[in-house]
Amino acid sequence: MFQFRQKELARSIVDSIQLRNSSYRFMHVCGTHQDTLVRHGLDQMLIDAGIDVREGPGCPVCVSTTREIETARQFARSGKTVAVYGDMLRAPGFRGSLETEKAKGNSVVVVYSIENAVEFARAHPDREVVFMAVGFETTIPSTAVVAENGPPENFSIYSMHKLTPPAVEGIAKLGHVALNGMILPGHVSAIIGTEPWENIRATVGMPQVVAGFEPLDLLIGIHMLIRQIEDKTPRVEIEYGRVVKHGGNERAKRVMNDVFIPVDSEWRGFPLLPGSGMKLRDIFSSIDAEKKYEDLLEDLKGRKFSDPPGCKCAEVIRGEMYPWNCPLFGKVCNPDRPIGPCMVSSEGACAIEFKYGKLRNVRAGAASTTAA
Ligand code: SF4
Repeated sequence: MFQFRQKELARSIVDSIQLRNSSYRFMHVCGTHQDTLVRHGLDQMLIDAGIDVREGPGCPVCVSTTREIETARQFARSGKTVAVYGDMLRAPGFRGSLETEKAKGNSVVVVYSIENAVEFARAHPDREVVFMAVGFETTIPSTAVVAENGPPENFSIYSMHKLTPPAVEGIAKLGHVALNGMILPGHVSAIIGTEPWENIRATVGMPQVVAGFEPLDLLIGIHMLIRQIEDKTPRVEIEYGRVVKHGGNERAKRVMNDVFIPVDSEWRGFPLLPGSGMKLRDIFSSIDAEKKYEDLLEDLKGRKFSDPPGCKCAEVIRGEMYPWNCPLFGKVCNPDRPIGPCMVSSEGACAIEFKYGKLRNVRAGAASTTAA
């Protein structure tokens, strides 16, 4: 087992990459990977070594659509108590956010987990509590367990859950950004295993490596991707073997599939992605907020919602643009006054760039706004 912060090993991996004198572009779909890359300055080191790594659709708050945020606001405006993670509170909808609703006196409470939201509902039987269920495969099982265990009658779930593999496949097929390989999220893969990634390899034939979250995990993962390219044998490899197994977590997969059904879903910056959303199965209709309060959502049907004016989150999420290429970055958009969701969430590329790479100059080799 390597030491996760071994500086000499990190340097030797980067040197080995640099010696190849090659130029590759990789994408990951994980806010924690982006945090590691920017916080430790790996992105700069890698760019100097010819490797451009971009964050794709890996931040749950960022990929949530304006329509989804407007749906949650509608629940709040209609007298429901919306239970929400802190990150989601400020995510901009159409001219406002859930924070705006709270400021108007509507009921919005911040929770730290779905269990926390259930506790709140039990403690306030006079209120109808709607939990905004956001996140990928890492949070879907905990939502599913609560649904299976029978929450109180005044509790319901608005599922905004999304699946990662359809987004990875979607971005590879979209082809707006030329990619040489994908760095896959370790925590998601601990749940789903490698089979969904193998299916993507079969359709798009792209090198993929499941990586952990330490700086050395990422550097080793990138080195493995380069080896695949050199071998001309795209495959799915696991760098994060101390946590991820090929079969994933059978129990988590079972509960997820018992409670949820995949549906086509919109993501910010993407057209409808087939099978990428997770909605509650019919037997859970009584706790499905979209069904329970269907009449409240009539107004939203057919309405089109534009993204915040000037915000380039869609391009950032697709990896077509770096945060610092957005004309609003650090000027009118910052964590205190975020314009788009990528500046709201701690997993968003703009927030991470602002925090750790703060207003640094455009870096050599990464100056172009749009990838080839
Ligand atoms: S800097 Fe702000 S406005 Fe620009 S893309 Fe990021 S979140 Fe949107």
